[in-house]
Amino acid sequence: MQTGEQMFFDNYTPAADITVIAVCFVIFILVMTSYMKKNTSFYIFINIVGFLLLAAFCDLFYHYRYTRITDGSYTSIYVLRCFYHAFLFSNMLLFVVYIVNLLHLEKFRKVPILVTSGIIYIVVISVDIVTTVSGKGFRLNKDGTHVSGLNIFLFGYLAFTIVIVTVLIRFRDRLYKRIMYALYGTIAVSVMIHVMQGIHSQSSFTVASFMFLVIAILYLLHSNPYNAELGAIDIKTLEDTINYNYKKKNELLIMSLYLPDCDAEGKGFPKKIQDVIRHFAEVFFKGAVLFQVSNGHVILVAKKKLNPDHENRKNKIINAFYPEYEKFQMDYKIVMGESIDEISRKNEYVSFIRNIHRKMPMNTMHMVTYDDVTEFNRYEFILNEVADIAKKQDPDDPRVLAYCQPVYHIKRGAYNTAEALMRLELPKIGMVFPDQFIPLAEENGYIHELTKIILHKTCMAIKSLIGENLWVKRISVNVSVLELRENSFADDICGIIEKSGIPVEKIAIEITESQTESDFMIMKDTIENLKEKGIKFYLDDFGTGYSNMERIMELPFDIIKFDRSLVIASSQDERSGKMVAGLAGMFKELGYSVLYEGVENENDEIRCTEMSAFYLQGYKYSRPIPIGELRRFFSPYQKELAASEEEISDDHNHKL
Ligand code: C2E
Ligand code: CA
Ligand code: CA
Repeated sequence: MQTGEQMFFDNYTPAADITVIAVCFVIFILVMTSYMKKNTSFYIFINIVGFLLLAAFCDLFYHYRYTRITDGSYTSIYVLRCFYHAFLFSNMLLFVVYIVNLLHLEKFRKVPILVTSGIIYIVVISVDIVTTVSGKGFRLNKDGTHVSGLNIFLFGYLAFTIVIVTVLIRFRDRLYKRIMYALYGTIAVSVMIHVMQGIHSQSSFTVASFMFLVIAILYLLHSNPYNAELGAIDIKTLEDTINYNYKKKNELLIMSLYLPDCDAEGKGFPKKIQDVIRHFAEVFFKGAVLFQVSNGHVILVAKKKLNPDHENRKNKIINAFYPEYEKFQMDYKIVMGESIDEISRKNEYVSFIRNIHRKMPMNTMHMVTYDDVTEFNRYEFILNEVADIAKKQDPDDPRVLAYCQPVYHIKRGAYNTAEALMRLELPKIGMVFPDQFIPLAEENGYIHELTKIILHKTCMAIKSLIGENLWVKRISVNVSVLELRENSFADDICGIIEKSGIPVEKIAIEITESQTESDFMIMKDTIENLKEKGIKFYLDDFGTGYSNMERIMELPFDIIKFDRSLVIASSQDERSGKMVAGLAGMFKELGYSVLYEGVENENDEIRCTEMSAFYLQGYKYSRPIPIGELRRFFSPYQKELAASEEEISDDHNHKL
């Protein structure tokens, strides 16, 4: 009778193994097309998929052979079955290696786990072979029926599951929680499938149950989803690509497109521009890959050797760009170049390109040269120094210099206020001006530490000027809008002034207009808070941005600083002159004092004085000087002088 064979065959259907084989191939396709990070985990993962595929094949063949053999020569079945088990155990062993690698375990933790797993691996495979050969294990009778014998597979499966689950639970804090939960869940599903098939005396789903963990790992740890509409991958992947090609010594062509209007948070490329970018990324360079750096910034990378005619292709892409620009009229900055070892090694193309953006005019293309690298190195050096200054928090840090520009008080015909201006004095490169470090300090979150230092130095300078019996009404310090977001801002400022022992009203704060609604609210609270303590506020750079008069009026500024661009505009034609004079007159009417910045000559002085000026500042009076030299400008303190000062005071009193 054939019942044994019948029963055994009934409990196996090839559907599950065929599915596993298909899924493995799909995974290979995905891996080949989706730019995964090629690290150790990745290679272990690929081997896991490979063993799964082999196991599925063996399982399939061994059952296939089993139903075909009629003459009782079962050797090939025994061999296939042993291989099938060996592949599954290799798979499980690699899972352990994968997890140990993923968790970055220290050597003393890693070794016992790997040794235990290795022993389990060797024992179960040896026992499987020995019992099969000796006839103590799985055996087929001449009539086709089988004897299960000692089930070493189940033992191995349980042992590995225990190891994997124990490691995942014991070191659960080493991994992002969500990923951990996903792994627990997936293992639970796999074990459940195993139990279910046991209950139903099934054997088709053994290999399939391993597939779930493979899919979970692929999705959780190796997927770098495309932005399907744009065809771009994220920035992390750019770093991996650079790294990989640098090691392989592949030269790259790098093209960057930046559309500042699309770059704000929550923005992005409009649909039509996405279509154009996707098209550009596909047609001009062979094998090019697009990376999205931020909402309005993409970088296209292609291998040079795949595009030997790259000069030609570059010209084509540039020529194709202009008609698109005509159509969309969006501001842009384009940077084009080839990989440079120095930048690749440090993997810093994004900051390299951003640094180039800083100095290039809008709507231009820039071809990278070695000068850009030199400049970038300087930028990096400055950034490191600024980071170090911020870290040390030394209020007397000698690298931070307090310079200063005295401000001319028209009615008095003399100086008693000034603006503090920062410079850095760095080893090797010497004096660095604000345009080279203020933006980068702001971008990297160091600006507040710098402000604290210059404020301290300004306070100390005021203290010594007062000590010399000079009449210092106040000195204003520049503060970045970003700083106001720090909760400790007001306390920090007051703390530093109080500690120096000078009266609070000797310090004023210059600040530019906020760009966003939330900053505006914070600004309003902070100004009101500090004004109560006696600190005056200057609105800096009026006339440079898109001024929102309503907002300006809502903030209790004392002095409005008209930017040099308005001083220049007022001299150019009558209309502009009337406009500037009108604005200044209005501010004066409303009780603000007007200060003109960038007064360079006598013409400027006369014009500004006629345009409701209260204060004048500029090269005509003094270039910025070290703060100690202010004593040359300030007059000795006299009681009468201070009293008359009150009469011509610029204390703000809103008339509305
Ligand atoms: P700002 O606050 O508008 O400072 C005035 C700038 O105009 C100074 O440049 C000054 O040297 C320059 N200037 C003064 N008079 C004239 C003139 O007659 N003609 C012309 N063409 N320019 C004149 P500086 O010192 O290079 O500072 C540039 C900017 O850097 C400042 O602009 C300010 O925004 C920023 N900055 C300087 N020091 C600090 C600081 O301590 N903290 C912060 N957050 N920013 C600072
Ligand atoms: Ca200023
Ligand atoms: Ca200014």
